[in-house]
Amino acid sequence: MQYTKSMKAYEKARNVIPGGVDSPVRAFKSVGGTPLFIKKGEGAYLVDVDGNRYVDFVQSWGPLIFGHTNKVIEKAVIKAVKKGLSFGAPTKAETKLAESICSLFENIDKIRFVSSGTEAVMSAIRLARGFTCKDDIIKFEGCYHGHSDSLLVQAGSGAVTFGSPSSPGVPADLTKHTLLAKYNDIKSVKKCFENSSNIACVIVEPIAGNMGFVPADASFLEELRSLCDAHGALLIFDEVMSGFRASLKGAQGVYKTVPDLVTFGKVIGGGMPVGAFGGREEIMDKLSPDGPVYQAGTLSGNPVAMAAGLASLEQIIEDETLHVRLEAKAKRLIEGLKAEAQNVGIPLQVGAIGSMFGFFFNDNPVKNFDDALKSDTKRFAAFHQGMLQEGFYFACSQFETSFVCDAMDDEMIDECIEAAAKVFKEMV
Ligand SMILES: *Cc1c(COP(=O)(O)O)cnc(C)c1O
Repeated sequence: MQYTKSMKAYEKARNVIPGGVDSPVRAFKSVGGTPLFIKKGEGAYLVDVDGNRYVDFVQSWGPLIFGHTNKVIEKAVIKAVKKGLSFGAPTKAETKLAESICSLFENIDKIRFVSSGTEAVMSAIRLARGFTCKDDIIKFEGCYHGHSDSLLVQAGSGAVTFGSPSSPGVPADLTKHTLLAKYNDIKSVKKCFENSSNIACVIVEPIAGNMGFVPADASFLEELRSLCDAHGALLIFDEVMSGFRASLKGAQGVYKTVPDLVTFGKVIGGGMPVGAFGGREEIMDKLSPDGPVYQAGTLSGNPVAMAAGLASLEQIIEDETLHVRLEAKAKRLIEGLKAEAQNVGIPLQVGAIGSMFGFFFNDNPVKNFDDALKSDTKRFAAFHQGMLQEGFYFACSQFETSFVCDAMDDEMIDECIEAAAKVFKEMV
């Protein structure tokens, strides 16, 4: 495959956009090579500016559960566009989308829309702090919740669990309120609660997708629930990635644990910029204008974005076998990949829930961020480049989750396994 036009476009972009990209992971830094510039999507496929076609397992990092150019979403968006792009005043579409989400989840009485996952989580945390009148939060190493200040935190030095900034520009005065615990390790959470009596909330990706694909143990989530209850803290499920993807009800359709607040993004906008956070009425009513906790957005609940979200969600709700079909595809793929890797002696850890799947080049099962970091990223880079050459587009990092979409069929999956067999052989 030739990438000359992508390379040229990348050079031009680098002159005027830092790193040539508007979100760092797109730059292909951890797998080498230059990012592909995309001309268009078509169902399961991406087409780059050189005219190369790839089966796309990234799907815009999650939003496109039906694949690219879904006709129903397309039609709804075009219809909305013709009525005006934005009003800064309420529309019925917002209520309609809110109603359909609230009727799906018993623990969500009210929901507010924003324009990104980052905003959804940032706002949910402010609300949790406002509701509990406490300042500290607990998050987990390897979980990503967007790029707001309080959440760009890494383990501090020494044995303490208080975090330090993971990026310049984030004041340590802020991150000292974020305590870091280990995923799937309830003892580390208990330690955080011992270190602070000021915990407003625990925020967790119930199915972690941002350290690679790492589902929580059911018992871990249950124990988080009891710890939060015992200490008067709220439990927030960040379902920006898993929402409507892991199952119709996201992680809440997979696990029994009931969180106090839930954040959404990605699939909820069907490809348009939408985020949301919701929960019980008594919590949500603390939000401005009814309550004192301030939160706002000029383009929040944008009518075009709502139209895309509604068209996407309606299709998901109507199609009762959607997630069963998607999970069958994801499992077919990961089991095929694992078998072909095994054939040439490459250890591969795999997993899938609903339309989310992941694989680690790792000798041992991955339960947390430390385990994930022991993966062979050089092997991943070789796999990624080899698969691109074969026409399969995977997330450009070992520490990302991949997705199947409804536009994929078993033939594409089997071709992918065949191509992987070839690439694995070249890797040993
Ligand atoms: C993607 C993601 C976010 C951030 O969403 P953006 O729309 O990129 O701001 C937050 N939390 C999780 C779990 C995510 O996967």
